[in-house]
Amino acid sequence: MAYENPFWKGIYNLLVGLRVTLRHLFTPAITLQYPTERWEMPERSRGMVVLLSDKETGDLNCTACILCQKGCPTGAIQIERHKGEDKRWKLDGFVVDHTICCYCGICQEACNFDALMLVPKYEYSTYTKEELIFNTAKLQEMGLDVEYTPKRPKKKPAPKPAAKPAADAKPKDEAAPAEAAKPAEPAAESKPADKPEAPAEEKKEGEA
Ligand code: SF4
Ligand code: SF4
Repeated sequence: MAYENPFWKGIYNLLVGLRVTLRHLFTPAITLQYPTERWEMPERSRGMVVLLSDKETGDLNCTACILCQKGCPTGAIQIERHKGEDKRWKLDGFVVDHTICCYCGICQEACNFDALMLVPKYEYSTYTKEELIFNTAKLQEMGLDVEYTPKRPKKKPAPKPAAKPAADAKPKDEAAPAEAAKPAEPAAESKPADKPEAPAEEKKEGEA
């Protein structure tokens, strides 16, 4: 048999390989002209870790609760904070070390305040490792153009209760109408002034 001959077997394998080459020879090449063209990353792909800001005020959404830091398995997040006069935590510093981040997304899951997100940004190669350690300003800057859907809508501030009047501070003219509204009781002994007494005498005369 010809196919059992090693020479013809080699020729057959060569032709099979060339068939793939010939097929791609006449199809247009798919080449991305980077950097003028860029890949569209999937919507939920995890790239750079960034901090999100309030679109109206521009302030960071972070409340310095450090849940993300506690959940991070690699210790890539370092947060500095202090307690303010209003007994709330204030953020002093937020650092993400992208050299040890494993892009697991646990920090984003842990955050309840729409403050941190892994976004599909992938172009941040540098010449030094130090440049991959992002501080608060850099993290905020990278998150400024990120669109996000809030996990929970913001609560509207509760309306202020109307000031209660003091219990004993009744306005004078408030009680007056109530008393004025009372119908005047007729005096028990008061007799109608125009009661005729003559008919009684007339009755007596009739009896006599
Ligand atoms: S993605 Fe994972 S490893 Fe990276 S900072 Fe968040 S929790 Fe840490
Ligand atoms: S990013 Fe979120 S979880 Fe982390 S400290 Fe800020 S509010 Fe808390």
